[in-house]
Amino acid sequence: MDSAKLDFSDIDYKYFTVPQSGWIRGDELNYAEWARQVGDERWSYKGLLPYFRRSEHHFELNADPEQHGFEGPMHNSSVSSSGRRYPLRETVLKAWKHLGLKEIPDANNGAPQGVAELVENRPDGLRQLTSNVYPLKGAHVMTETTVSRIILSDNDRYGKVATGVELSDGRHINIKSGGEVLVCGGAYRSPQILMLSGIGDNSELQKRGIRQQILEAPPPESGLAVGSLMFADPAFEKGNPVDWLATMTVPHDVLNAAIAQNEPDSIVDDNHVLLRGPRSHLEMNVLYAVFAAEQIGLDTPIDETAIMSYCLACLPTSRGSISLSSKDPLDHPVIDPNYAATKADRFVMQEGWRVMSRLMLETPEAKDLVVDEIVPDGHTCLLSNSSSDDIDTRINIGAVSCYHPPGSCSMGKVVDSSCKVHGVEGLRVVDASVIPVPLAAHYQAACRADCDNYSC
Ligand SMILES: Cc1cc2nc3c(=O)[nH]c(=O)nc-3n(C[C@H](O)[C@H](O)[C@H](O)COP(=O)(O)OP(=O)(O)OC[C@H]3O[C@@H](n4cnc5c(N)ncnc54)[C@H](O)[C@@H]3O)c2cc1C
Repeated sequence: MDSAKLDFSDIDYKYFTVPQSGWIRGDELNYAEWARQVGDERWSYKGLLPYFRRSEHHFELNADPEQHGFEGPMHNSSVSSSGRRYPLRETVLKAWKHLGLKEIPDANNGAPQGVAELVENRPDGLRQLTSNVYPLKGAHVMTETTVSRIILSDNDRYGKVATGVELSDGRHINIKSGGEVLVCGGAYRSPQILMLSGIGDNSELQKRGIRQQILEAPPPESGLAVGSLMFADPAFEKGNPVDWLATMTVPHDVLNAAIAQNEPDSIVDDNHVLLRGPRSHLEMNVLYAVFAAEQIGLDTPIDETAIMSYCLACLPTSRGSISLSSKDPLDHPVIDPNYAATKADRFVMQEGWRVMSRLMLETPEAKDLVVDEIVPDGHTCLLSNSSSDDIDTRINIGAVSCYHPPGSCSMGKVVDSSCKVHGVEGLRVVDASVIPVPLAAHYQAACRADCDNYSC
């Protein structure tokens, strides 16, 4: 092995996905909109706060006890509390501050706008599987088993009642009288199960979540990114190679005009759902390695010469759909994410790109650090004053999902505010598919709180 480098040659970086394990509740305003839409304050941030606290084992014992829990099963930690000291930490923070972002001590208190340390669900470096930490005492777990449909019976009082499930091998599992069937197949599969049971309307199934990414390169042999000896510190195995999570809104005048084009019949003023707030439209990160570059045709090794920035457009207005590809529950449903179909979504993504360009190419810190942007063949580096069309072209090449789909069995449409499926007795959906609005969050924290909330 080269004495100046770690040997990453046995790692097939093509199989790295974008780093995961974020423990990010999101913005109070997300939940306010959720509660408003379904007319039930249990889904407001305040309503969910007891469950956020109850799920959480917060790393900072002096944190605000009104906001955080210290005895829950899901352990979280900030980058510094896990002992990671990345060489680019202060540089990247300074660059964010150059763009006017305020450093905030806690982004998990419902007010995430600013720049804060990333918090992850990774005690001692290992991500916690929910099924390992929530007790399954008394539950009969059947693995490698697929539910093909809900068994529904006619009932004089309720119309339809759920009495059990049918498995893909034909077996029936019936519930006791007065019990309930809880569907939690996730945002893609719960609607499939409902549709296979004869419940649902394709036009109401939705999917959201977009990430765009740009890639930058620090000088070779810099020792600033994964692949260098400085990254041999075992503490670095405790989380993703990142320090900061930045959350911000976008300029309202342009967003206002974009929304007005989408919704010519609406009054678009400061009270519009996307403008009220200001809302958290963008989440952004700088990572000290490049992940998933092959998805946009780049062969960028993890060898300390490249870092990466990406942003999430958190509040998409485009709506996708989920439909059945066949009657076979083992077949995948047809998922049409319909990404970036509205002018407002396009603008937010362009703005995200512009912020990242400013941060990575135009701040004094970036000028000292970044040699060039690594771009797909035939493309040139884009600055923050590049045209919207040029930015759109690159977004079309580079945007990928961040795997946070909600809303495909939306509360208020498919289920009521207690997660009960409309028109069927004894049947609830309890997973991300019921979340009716996009959250400027990573959904695991909300899913844990939601499941607790429905059951209380
Ligand atoms: C790669 C990846 C990385 C992620 N990283 C993060 C992160 O860092 N932070 C974060 O907050 N969120 C993250 N998320 C999102 C988060 O995992 C989801 O939002 C969350 O798991 C949704 O929970 P759920 O209960 O709705 O569904 P799921 O966790 O998807 O659970 C659904 C379960 O139902 C089972 N199932 C489906 N269909 C059937 C059937 N017919 N019969 C029987 N069982 C069935 C599935 O096998 C699965 O076990 C990530 C998601 C992905 C895919």
